[in-house]
Parts: sequence; C-alpha cells; structure tokens
Amino acid sequence: MYDTIIIGGGPAGITAGIYAKRAGVNAVIFEKMGAGGQIMLTDTVENYPGFISISGPELGQKFEEHAEAVGVEIKYEEVQKVVTEGKIHRVISDGDEYETIAVIVATGSQPRKLQVEGEDKFTGRGVSYCAVCDGAFFRDKVVAVIGGGDSAIKEALYLASLVRKVIVIHRRDKLRAEKILQEQAFNNPKIEFVWDSVVEKILGDDKFEGLLIKNVKNPDEKEELKVDGVFIYVGNIPNTKFVDVEKTSSGQIITNSVMATNVPGIYAAGDCRNTPLKQITTCVGDGALAAYTAAEYVEKFKGGFI
Ligand code: NAP
Repeated sequence: MYDTIIIGGGPAGITAGIYAKRAGVNAVIFEKMGAGGQIMLTDTVENYPGFISISGPELGQKFEEHAEAVGVEIKYEEVQKVVTEGKIHRVISDGDEYETIAVIVATGSQPRKLQVEGEDKFTGRGVSYCAVCDGAFFRDKVVAVIGGGDSAIKEALYLASLVRKVIVIHRRDKLRAEKILQEQAFNNPKIEFVWDSVVEKILGDDKFEGLLIKNVKNPDEKEELKVDGVFIYVGNIPNTKFVDVEKTSSGQIITNSVMATNVPGIYAAGDCRNTPLKQITTCVGDGALAAYTAAEYVEKFKGGFI
C-alpha cells in the first residue's frame, strides 16, 4: 500500500511528488502520457520565476528530471477511478489497482470545445487546440484564433511568428488576457481583431474552408471568413470525472485552503480545482501544500489517530 498516490504529472503533481519525497512519504505519481502537463503544449513561459523566458517543453522536462533526480516514482498509467472503501482509497488504473492512504488529484484540464457544426469533422484538418503542435502547418497562411483569455492571446502571438496573419475572434469587445499580453498583441502588425463575434459554423464539405461568424450585438450580421485554419482557446474542462468528491457545476474540485476535499484523505492541486488563478506558479504552490497536508494525514493515519 502506498502512503500517497498523486494523479497527474504536471507542475502540481510533480511538485507534490518532490515534497512528498522530502517528507519521507512513500508516494508515486501516475501520469497517463508524459510528465509536464499542459506546459508541454506551450511555446514560451515568461512568468515562472528564475526563467525570464523558457520554452514550455523545456520547463516541463526540467520538472520531470527534478522529480526523477530526487527519486520520485512515476508510473505511466491512466487512472480510471478512485474508489473509497472505509479509510482506504483504491486507485484503479488501466494497468492495475493500488491501495493508498492519501490521494492527491492533480489532473489539470483539457481544452473546451466550441461545440459548433464542423468542429469535430475538421479537428486535425483545419481545427486545432494546440498552436505549438500544429502552427507549423500554417506557415505563411491566415489563421483565426477564438477566445480572449491568456491562452488565446499567448497562442495568437506565437502563431504570428509563423503565419501571414492571425485574426482573433472574441465574443466581447474587451480581452480577458493579462495586460502585458494584450499590449503585445495590439502592437503586433500581423494580429487583427474581430470583436463581439462568435463562430456559428465551421465551413467546408471535404476540406476546411473557413468560418461562419456572427456578430452577437447584431445577430443578423453574419460573415463567411476565409481562413486556412482555426485555433480554439475558449477555456478548459477539468479532468475530474474519475473521482467522487465535491465539485463545482463545471467539475472543478472544491478544496479548502490546505487543498483538502470533502473526502478525508483526498486532496486536489492545480488547474483541476476551483482556483481563480491557473498558472504554473499557483499549481506549484498547490502541489507543495497538498503534499504537506497529505503527509500530515498519513502520519496521523499511521499513528492510529484517523
Ligand atoms: P479563460 O481564461 O477561461 O478564457 C476563455 C476565453 O474564451 C474567454 O475570453 C471567453 O470569453 C472565451 N469563451 C468562452 N467560451 C466561449 C465560447 N463558447 N465562444 C467564444 N468564446 C468563448 O481560458 P484560458 O485562456 O484557456 O485560460 C485558462 C486559465 O489558464 C486562466 O486562469 C489563465 O489565466 C491561465 N493561463 C495563463 C497563461 C499565462 O501565460 N499567464 C497562459 C495560458 C493560460 P469571455 O472573456 O467573454 O468570458
């Protein structure tokens, strides 16, 4: 039986692993693909202290190397369910079943879809959720970016370094992104904005042809926008279905200030929980705190106090 099973190998999970190890806790990280989490899909990170600018994959790799260097065990298995039986939690993965005293859920989130006609049909053939993965296919072409948050603007800036033109389509007339990103985008001659507009349909029979967009203030005003591809950044859905703890209506795990959920022994850290700020820095802080609180719980459990 493990003391603590950490689910997810992004910044929150990796940090939890490092802190658990330092606390002498018998812990393991479960990661379904490769460690690093969503930063592996990010071009550059410019707000993680110590690195004025570093590529996402490089930072992710450094996190993984750090975990391995201090002896944190990482199992590359996908967790399908966490079942609580009395005081013990059973973690069921695609490989096996494991018992543990504590669980830290650090599974992050996945891109939210627009849910419009043509989106699924053209995913990977014009529709993308990852500029770092697919941007190079659109070199010298014209692409649209949907959304006005940090992800949309950051990725629009990245795409502008590759493509001929980026058209950001946002449903309001103000961006949600950090001011510094907004300034960079407004000052980039390759980035144009279409305000107060949403995508109604993705156009094309066999081949992606563009977007049908609608002005939300004047819904009769519709326009066919010819672009070569579209990158969708309209928020994220937390990966939390596999665990039965209290969540918000959008599936974010509800924790208290020390990362505890409503189920004793289950903690959550990072983007999968109801935190107002989703950054690598905040994920790292969450992970450290979750590991600390879980270690206290494990100690009490072993001492017979739970
Ligand atoms: P987000 O902050 O939730 O922004 C989503 C954007 O999509 C918003 O502008 C929203 O419009 C728009 N949107 C939502 N549903 C839509 C729909 N159906 N149709 C059209 N537009 C829609 O998501 P995010 O940008 O992925 O960021 C997620 C979290 O990660 C945030 O906390 C963010 O700060 C963080 N993050 C940080 C960085 C960084 O470098 N600092 C980078 C990436 C992400 P409204 O504005 O009108 O709501």
